[in-house]
Amino acid sequence: MAKILIVEDNALNVKLFCDLLAAHGHEARPVTDGRFALDQAREFGPDLVITDIQLPHVTGLDLIRLIRDDEKLKHVPIMAVTAYAAAADEERIRAAGAQAYVSKPISVAKFVAQVNELLGIETADRKTPAPQAT
Ligand code: MN
Repeated sequence: MAKILIVEDNALNVKLFCDLLAAHGHEARPVTDGRFALDQAREFGPDLVITDIQLPHVTGLDLIRLIRDDEKLKHVPIMAVTAYAAAADEERIRAAGAQAYVSKPISVAKFVAQVNELLGIETADRKTPAPQAT
């Protein structure tokens, strides 16, 4: 079981992501306001952060940078979820410090596969490379 912080302002997506992760045995904590996400992450100590990019008040890109600059959180993997699927956006998301990117509306299989891969990278023997997504 992993602790996963979900930063998402859309209530339907919050429910979908939380239900999906709970069904896979994870403890998901939602944050719907990006302004509170960093404090929630510090307090929760997640194994993975999943963040929407289009958030009110604080963009997901800014949040990713804040997490990467945080002494306690900088090694926590981040998966971005966004409706904008342009390649330039993916580059900006990865440049900000996210390891993975899933476009909305999500494919459940891809969402779960990315979550497992990111958690595997953090928890598996580092001498054994994680399988590459295809
Ligand atoms: Mn949003």
